[in-house]
Amino acid sequence: MSEPTSNELSFSQNVNFLVDRAIAAMDLEQDTAAAIKACASIIQVTFPVKIRDKIQMFTGWRAVHSTHRLPAKGGIRYAPYANQDEVEALAALMSYKCALMDIPFGGSKGALLIDPSNYTRDEMQKITRRFTMELVRKGFLSPSTNVPAPDVGTGQREMAWMADTYKHLFPEDINYQACVTGKPVQHGGIRGRTEATGRGVQYSIQEFFRHPEDVKRAGLTQGIGGKRIVIQGFGNVGYHAARLLTIEDDAKITAVIKSEGVLIDENGLDIDVLHEHILEHKTMKGFPNAHFDEDGLKALELECDILIPAALEAQITCENADRIKARLIVEAANGPVTYEADKVLNEKGIVIIPDIYANAGGVTVSYFEWIRNLSHIRFGRMQSRHEEMRSREFAQLLEELSGKSISEDIRKKVIRGATEEDLVNSGLDDTMRLGYQQLSQLFNSNDKIKDLRTAGYVIAIDKISRTYLDIGIY
Ligand code: NAD
Repeated sequence: MSEPTSNELSFSQNVNFLVDRAIAAMDLEQDTAAAIKACASIIQVTFPVKIRDKIQMFTGWRAVHSTHRLPAKGGIRYAPYANQDEVEALAALMSYKCALMDIPFGGSKGALLIDPSNYTRDEMQKITRRFTMELVRKGFLSPSTNVPAPDVGTGQREMAWMADTYKHLFPEDINYQACVTGKPVQHGGIRGRTEATGRGVQYSIQEFFRHPEDVKRAGLTQGIGGKRIVIQGFGNVGYHAARLLTIEDDAKITAVIKSEGVLIDENGLDIDVLHEHILEHKTMKGFPNAHFDEDGLKALELECDILIPAALEAQITCENADRIKARLIVEAANGPVTYEADKVLNEKGIVIIPDIYANAGGVTVSYFEWIRNLSHIRFGRMQSRHEEMRSREFAQLLEELSGKSISEDIRKKVIRGATEEDLVNSGLDDTMRLGYQQLSQLFNSNDKIKDLRTAGYVIAIDKISRTYLDIGIY
């Protein structure tokens, strides 16, 4: 592939150029590289659904980028702008993400070309069930080979409809619940999945700040507390990331960008109150003590410490990259920075925590949910009370030995057995910490690797290539 000369690259070309840059820093044979980059399969389905007495046609896609591990895993988005190239690019990102984070899945992604705001809940259910049947019949959805999850425009309810449709098609499949992740807890979901991607973004920033050499390189001072953050996107990922970073880490969200524009408050927005305001008024406009402006894209260029794009791909391009003022960009969305923009930002010394790591919290907890579904038991169910009993005995022993009594408050904290959510968050924290440590270690020890993104791709491609070389390609 020759170097691109314009900003007119498609999403999958952008991903492939970033991958090529990593391959150039590796000792990898070209044919193995080509096998890793290729999208293994993709289907396009077009199906009719009767809506308000009229037949409407819908088009959707599901791509499987790699099957070196099964099932292939990746979200399904519902959007009026979806296309095949985007789905292929997102499936590839899933392969690299899972490999980097040691999640034993291949990469997949799906999309349905639809504007959900034009349909009622019942109509969305009808469309989703029909789409699911198409995917199942064509071998693109099952607990063992291909497992979707939520993405832009989809959430728990779509996942519940998909799982239920699969169950009706295969009632004898005891593992039917594992056919999708991101389900409601009462339908086989796992506690902590809804906020997992946003929480993963928070953990990724926490781990970055545990690496003083990386913080210094970005030109930031130590610690998240008080850092000014601009966030683009206030959906599942953006809202939870913003909320957790303010509540648990004392960061200041100085601007929230949505499709309608940007809301700015230099003193920091109250995220919970803003969320309630949007639920009530369906807009950010009118939020007290904050300034609203319709030019959301321009707001990416605001003065801040950390910029978190958490909406769509290709938001920072060679058009605006030079004007970005943040010192750290955390890619909560998939592909928010184009290949060309990435080069500009690197030259400016802006540190980028790349998407294949930063937003991996979703697939990490999806992995936990899938395991929970296959094991048919809630995490912690067998050991929680036992842990509590042992801790109570230990507290008693401490009291006897010291002759002092432990306050009721402390006793409650000490003896409490871990809940499912505690275990999920602890597993997520561990995965995000280890993920960043791999990136930083390689970045800081190899002169050929100039940024964290290339480090991420090198690690991921190395792991995938080893499975190809071990098993062989036939
Ligand atoms: P969502 O549909 O819940 O929210 C999308 C948000 O983006 C909304 O707030 C919307 O207003 C905003 N938005 C849309 N167009 C915009 C524009 N032109 N300018 C500014 N804001 C705009 O989607 P989500 O699930 O939060 O996903 C966001 C990103 O994170 C996507 O790139 C997705 O692929 C990625 N991601 C999501 C998950 C997950 O678990 N949901 C996991 C990994 C990665």
